[in-house]
Amino acid sequence: MTWLLERVDGEPWDNQHAAREVRGGVWLYTCRSAGQLWPLGDCSERCAHPTPADAERHYQQYLLRSARYDGVWQGKEYRCAVCQAWTDRYAVLETHVVVSLCPAHLDRAGLERLALAQALAAGQN
Ligand SMILES: [Zn+2]
Ligand SMILES: [Zn+2]
Repeated sequence: MTWLLERVDGEPWDNQHAAREVRGGVWLYTCRSAGQLWPLGDCSERCAHPTPADAERHYQQYLLRSARYDGVWQGKEYRCAVCQAWTDRYAVLETHVVVSLCPAHLDRAGLERLALAQALAAGQN
């Protein structure tokens, strides 16, 4: 599941951020760069996620909590990602992903609905 992880500029995800098995049967959401590996977001050495999906969910919780909801497009509008209404508002995630949301969905609950919808669309859960 990769929602919220794609870069807004459309560049392909570089595969440095991913759920990885750090020891037998223990998954963390991690960044790997220059030969180093470290946990991202709320994931830490104390985590012991049994599956990659669990690690991704933990990271998703961090993204939801740290998102900012004060974005305003200047002079343009996009469809709300939840209800398709036109809106000039957006949320920004720590990953620099921008999500257009109408005022009714411009909060953590709106992003969570989006996550759920995408998870269902992907045939997960
Ligand atoms: Zn974790
Ligand atoms: Zn909406």
